[in-house]
Amino acid sequence: MYGLMQQRELLISGLIEFAQKNHADTEIISRRVEGDIHRSNWAEVGKRSQQIAHALKRMDLAVGSRVATLAWNGYRHLELYFGVSGTARVLHTINPRLHPDQLAWIVNHAEDEVLCFDMTFLPLVQALHAKTPTVKHWIALCDTHQLPKDSGIPGLQSYEGWIGQEDSAFDWPQFDENTASSLCYTSGTTGHPKGTLYSHRSTLLHAFGAALPDVMNLSATDSVLPVVPMFHVNAWGLPYSCAMVGAKLVFPGPAMDGKSVYELIEQEHVTFAAGVPTVWQMLLSHMKPLGVRFSSLKRTVIGGSACPPSMIHAFKQDHGVEVLHAWGMTELSPLGTLCSLKNKHMSLPLDQQMKIRLKQGRSFFGVDLKILNDQGQLQVHDGQSYGDLYAKGSWVINKYFKQAQSPLIDGWFPTGDVATMDEDGYMQVVDRTKDVIKSGGEWISSIDIENIAVSHPSVAMAACIAIADPKWDERPIVVVVVKPGLVLSKEELLAFYVGKTAKWQIPDDVIFVDAIPIGATGKILKNKLREDLLKREAP
Ligand code: ADP
Repeated sequence: MYGLMQQRELLISGLIEFAQKNHADTEIISRRVEGDIHRSNWAEVGKRSQQIAHALKRMDLAVGSRVATLAWNGYRHLELYFGVSGTARVLHTINPRLHPDQLAWIVNHAEDEVLCFDMTFLPLVQALHAKTPTVKHWIALCDTHQLPKDSGIPGLQSYEGWIGQEDSAFDWPQFDENTASSLCYTSGTTGHPKGTLYSHRSTLLHAFGAALPDVMNLSATDSVLPVVPMFHVNAWGLPYSCAMVGAKLVFPGPAMDGKSVYELIEQEHVTFAAGVPTVWQMLLSHMKPLGVRFSSLKRTVIGGSACPPSMIHAFKQDHGVEVLHAWGMTELSPLGTLCSLKNKHMSLPLDQQMKIRLKQGRSFFGVDLKILNDQGQLQVHDGQSYGDLYAKGSWVINKYFKQAQSPLIDGWFPTGDVATMDEDGYMQVVDRTKDVIKSGGEWISSIDIENIAVSHPSVAMAACIAIADPKWDERPIVVVVVKPGLVLSKEELLAFYVGKTAKWQIPDDVIFVDAIPIGATGKILKNKLREDLLKREAP
């Protein structure tokens, strides 16, 4: 027997319809490529996304065609999120920080037909367009008068020229909620990038889940700053969740340095921000010498790579900002866990609460996690025993785009992370499977070693990698960037480890470098670091 309720498909157009109607004057603020601040609101975003819908129809673009973006976080990108997906075409957000050859590979693999780009990326597009035959329309995210005269890109149009004359009322089509909505490729540190193709249903369920009080706790009282790029797993779904709850959105554009981010937070009374640890490191380093504080920021989600405890402490103690440590992956839309406390933790002393907050957190309704030991059996939940982490759920990948074989094992997605789980379901990432250091048959977590290093007052950044060892197989070494103007010796740093970790886990060596290579999504590139170090040693 069926229930007797209305069937309304879970569609992305429903989100913008809702926000446009119910939160019309809630602001959408963007720092533009030109450096100025642009002010819009949900009503405008709604109207302009309907203009996009008309413009796409005029291009005669089939349902399911891919419309790509090479763009920063901003209002035009947001409009494309709704205009493209709302009409059952697929928004393919591309990470512009990838190597040009990889970019061309991705565009060709996705068979993108339209490519919209911020003017910052004009040189990139000029190098790309001859290698990407499927792209029929090139659109620069600017005004018509800002279009370059001789770009060399055939038929280049401006975004404002493209949508400007269109009607701002469009009847959003209704279709199956399992229809593809957006596409995001993993950065592919090994092999070719792989595409995760989200559906309207997975996107909406993820948006519901992310907004829950124990997750991001988003509401119409929030002013939300996604520093995490809209080309990186849809800015962790924030554009969708914010439309769902009617939150104000504040976009940093290309300016993600500490000074610009701090100014934007203060000017726009940001209450909630989200990004990877490297961005927050830049922000805190900017603020510390100036002795400035946040006047509105309450919570910040930090994820994408392990958030060092020292950063959680700095936010809490120096600024009264609650850090929500989160773990996720492109293949998980991306949220897998977020660290918030339970009722029984509220009476614990602060230092014990902090111990919990340092973990990557617990899953919430919609994602299920399991950890298997070396024998493929369920690992005990004691917070100590580790194993391979698997996920399944309503917004977890089933198959990669254009790959016949599913990556699932018995219906579960292998995340490639090694983790522990405690009795209360709090998961802690020990390492990525390929980064864990195996010394004398025991495992050393490179994350733990890095966290200790960055808690030293003179260390700006640290990466722990393995070196081959004839006796122990592998031993850890730590590569360190010292804060400007400070000095640190190898002996001092190694002495700092004593008492903070088991003796045999203390790195064998410290290598000081000027910079550590950071990848397209703000994570340390350990492969590149290993190569660089080998090159250094070669002469
Ligand atoms: P890519 O490898 O393309 O950067 P993702 O951005 O999807 O792909 O990265 C997912 C991986 O990032 C996870 O499998 C995990 O190793 C790492 N990660 C994400 N969040 C955290 C976190 N809070 N702590 C530790 N590692 C994390």
